Amino acid sequence: QKAEWATLKTAASVTADGKHFEVSANIGTPKDLDGVLANGAEGVGLYRTEFLYMDSAELPTEDDQFKAYKQVLETMNPKPVVVRTMDIGGDKHLPYLPLPEEQNPFLGYRAIRISLDRQDIFRTQLRALLRASAFGNLRIMFPMIATIQEFEQAKQVFLEEKDKLIKDGVKVSDSIQLGIMIEIPAAAVLADQFAKRVDFFSIGTNDLIQYSMAADRGNEHVSYLYQPYNPSILRLVKHVIDSAHKEGKWAGMCGEAAGDPIMVPLLVGMGLDEFSMSATSVLKVRSLMKKLSTTEMAKLSERAITESISNDDNKKLVEALNL
Ligand code: PEP
Ligand code: MG
Repeated sequence: QKAEWATLKTAASVTADGKHFEVSANIGTPKDLDGVLANGAEGVGLYRTEFLYMDSAELPTEDDQFKAYKQVLETMNPKPVVVRTMDIGGDKHLPYLPLPEEQNPFLGYRAIRISLDRQDIFRTQLRALLRASAFGNLRIMFPMIATIQEFEQAKQVFLEEKDKLIKDGVKVSDSIQLGIMIEIPAAAVLADQFAKRVDFFSIGTNDLIQYSMAADRGNEHVSYLYQPYNPSILRLVKHVIDSAHKEGKWAGMCGEAAGDPIMVPLLVGMGLDEFSMSATSVLKVRSLMKKLSTTEMAKLSERAITESISNDDNKKLVEALNL
C-alpha cells in the first residue's frame, strides 16, 4: 500500500473508467502547506482564514494578511487556492473582538454576517486577497451564505475594493473566481438561483448536516443524528451539484464527508467536481477513486437517493461493494 501511495503522489485523481476529479486539501495556516505538498494535493480547496485572526493578539493588518495569502498562492501556483473569508462566531471567538452574548451562537452572528456588518474588517481582508491574487490562482469563497442578497452584497464590496486598487495602480488578477459555501439548507435548496450568480459552490457538510438535522455538530447527545449518508442530505448535495452543472459552474465539497470512504463513491456517482479534505486523506481517496467506475457509481448514488430511507441503508450499500 505504501508503494502504491508513493506513486499516487504525483498522479492525477482518475477513476477506473478514466474520469478525472480534483482532490485538494484543507488548510488553516501557511504552515499546513508542507502536508499539502507531501501528499500531492491538486490544490487548496479550503483555506480557513479565521486562524489568522485567532492566532493574532489584534485584528491582523492588511499587510500581515497579504503576506500569508501571497505565501500560500505562490507555493501552490498554478494550482488553485480557495480562500474562505473569515468565519468567526459559532464556537470560534476573538479576544479582541467582543461578540454579543447569544442564546444560539451557531444560529447567530457568524461569518459573512459579521463581515457584511463590520465592513472595515471585511474590506481589509478583501484588499489583502486582491493584492495577493497577482501571485497565484485565487478563488474567494464566502462562508455561511443564506440568501442571494448576502452574496450580491459581498460581491459588491469585493468589486469596490478591486476598483480602488486598480485605480491606485496595484496589480490584481482579473480571473479571481467568487464562490460560496453551501452549508445552510436555504442556500442548498436555492442552489439553482445561486448557480446563475456565483462561479462555484463548495459544500460544507459539517455545517450543512448540523443545520439540516437540527443537531449541534459538537453535541454528543445528538451525535446519532449526524448522518452524512442520510438520503435527505444526499438529495441536497445532488441538487447543488446538478444546479452548478446546469449553469456551467463547478461544485466541490470541503466538509469532512469529502474524505470519507463511504461518501466518496456516492459523490463520484453524483459528479462532484472537487473533493477537499485533510491532507492526510488525499492519497487514500485517490487510491479509492482508481477502483470506481463512474457509471456504476451513478447507478449506486441514484439508488441511495431514491430507494434508501436511512443513513444505515446507504452505508451498507457502499460497504457491499467491498472496495
Ligand atoms: C463545513 O461546515 O463543512 C466547513 C468546511 O466549514 P467549518 O468546518 O470550518 O465550519
Ligand atoms: Mg462551516
